[in-house]
Amino acid sequence: MSRIFSGIQPSGELHIGNYLGAVRNWVRLQHQHPSIICVVDYHAITVSYDPEQLRVRRRDMALSLLAAGIDPNIATLFVQSTVPEHTELAWIFNTVAPLGELERQTQFKEKSARQESVSAGLLTYPVLQAADILLYRADLVPVGEDQVQHLELSRVIARRWNAQFAGGQDFFPEPQPLLTPARRIMGLDGQAKMSKSLGNTVGLLETPEQIWAKLRPAVTDPKRVKRTDPGTPEVCNIYHLHKALSPAATVEHVAVQCSTAGWGCIDCKKVLHESMLAELVPIQTRAKALRANPRTVDDVLASGTAKCSRMARETMTVVRERMGIT
Ligand code: SF4
Repeated sequence: MSRIFSGIQPSGELHIGNYLGAVRNWVRLQHQHPSIICVVDYHAITVSYDPEQLRVRRRDMALSLLAAGIDPNIATLFVQSTVPEHTELAWIFNTVAPLGELERQTQFKEKSARQESVSAGLLTYPVLQAADILLYRADLVPVGEDQVQHLELSRVIARRWNAQFAGGQDFFPEPQPLLTPARRIMGLDGQAKMSKSLGNTVGLLETPEQIWAKLRPAVTDPKRVKRTDPGTPEVCNIYHLHKALSPAATVEHVAVQCSTAGWGCIDCKKVLHESMLAELVPIQTRAKALRANPRTVDDVLASGTAKCSRMARETMTVVRERMGIT
């Protein structure tokens, strides 16, 4: 059966953007495919960061993933830096990755434009991603549209390595994208993708009061100035959040109430708040239980590391042998 690899940066607790945009899909997919889920801390150090915060955030992310529904009895959850073969394979792939394609990666161009000093690690970030996936010879990677280009590079690297060192045989499969059905979740400012660094998120573990304090002033259809102005749901981020969180009948009702000015935006947000809590309360209950018993997270991660280390060693034995490396 096709194996899935998914990675997420250790940004601390999950927010509804990365939950609805990725993690909720992983929770569904873990029942359909063997799934490896990795907290990718090596990726988090390509831009400036605080080592102490990294430690805390890595753990918070693991706890959030388990609370969100990743089931360690079905899926494998671990932290990238606990399996050092990731960096070994990344170095090896650096020797076959085409420089021109790395420089053309849209994310590199965008991220490097925001940095005063650009590290080589930012450029070779997709090579490490290729190593993450191919170390476990994963066939499928759930991604959003913005990651498709990186995955194409993983296929190029797999193809080149296979051609050079595996006599053209598919030792490394060419991983295919599994496009995430959930839409790109915009932040509450309605300006950009939901992101912690932009301060436009709703945390999965925030209290109902904290969530409402953020939802209340959230941006809606900018043309709906007065309560009596009919709105256009499709241009409103609150409507898109309803589509991700509310039952179908409620979503239909929202569209009618909005376009006929039957509701004000606050009424609409109150209903969204209820839908959000219905989704988040079970997650928060699991998070509370995990916090009360911290050994659980440690044990899950240790067992994930043990399993992934075995798989990584198997892959690297073949890779080293084929490449004449001891
Ligand atoms: S009524 Fe709801 S969907 Fe319509 S503009 Fe207001 S918040 Fe958005």
